[in-house]
Amino acid sequence: MLANYAKLSAAMPSIATLDNLWTGRPHTIAAALLESDGRRAIVDPGPGSTLETFRQNLHDLDAILLTHIHLDHAGATGALVSENPRLAVYVHKNGAKHMIDPSKLLASAQRLWPNDLQRLFGETLPVPGENLRILEGGETLTLGSRKLEVVYTPGHASHHVSYFDKAEGVAFVGDTTGVRIEGNSFAMPATPPPDIDLEIWDKSFAAILERKPARLFLTHYGYSDNPSEHILLFRERLHRWAALTADILRTSASDSAAMDAFMSATFAEISQHLPGGEAEHYAFSAGLNLSFLGLARYLRKRAEAAASGVP
Ligand SMILES: [Zn+2]
Repeated sequence: MLANYAKLSAAMPSIATLDNLWTGRPHTIAAALLESDGRRAIVDPGPGSTLETFRQNLHDLDAILLTHIHLDHAGATGALVSENPRLAVYVHKNGAKHMIDPSKLLASAQRLWPNDLQRLFGETLPVPGENLRILEGGETLTLGSRKLEVVYTPGHASHHVSYFDKAEGVAFVGDTTGVRIEGNSFAMPATPPPDIDLEIWDKSFAAILERKPARLFLTHYGYSDNPSEHILLFRERLHRWAALTADILRTSASDSAAMDAFMSATFAEISQHLPGGEAEHYAFSAGLNLSFLGLARYLRKRAEAAASGVP
């Protein structure tokens, strides 16, 4: 009986949610640890600042699967590879060069968090090119007996991919379906600069829905059990927040007044759906100020392209 049970559990691959307690706050950034037949991979290990939180879970790691290279998802990658040089790091081709040389990534992060970069993200080390496995979408990765389909899901970032575990019915979607903290039903956008693109994003929603996952796994934070309802509501809010940003940009005296107006309008909306502590937690996890900057940049790029006749 025991032997049978051991055999059964060995044959049943597992997914563990690792809470890296970013800035000391639970349920903000989740990594997923996948295990199958003794092979281990982590989806989005998080920033360098939180590596110690779950280092005991990271022994014998074979692979790091990055949904995208933003520091809150991928910052710890270089440190993990320096400790374990045989680690394979999967990343979309458009993000690969910034893993090899993170200086541009860090410079843009420095502009977004001028006083707080080190505290929030810790060390971001380069990843040697030979550790990278370059993705374009369409690949199938094998981890033990587990198969993961790679799907290109840009919109939040131009180099964003999602990983689909068909056997488990789980889609690891990074930030493609926004922020929805496990235990709440409210989903909202995280739209930081520089890549936000709503037209392209819509195609990513279609690509996710087409595969009919039973559950989404979000970096911020954890599982969402009704993907089609989640995406419907999330998409509606994403487009509405873009329209709100356009209105505010038209009527505000300055960019900083526009940001204030966006943050108070969106925070009021969040607060209608969530109790006080949770509303604040959502705003922090998504970075409402960054969401404004990303949407404003997207709208201006689109307006410039329209003015110059570029489709
Ligand atoms: Zn991101």
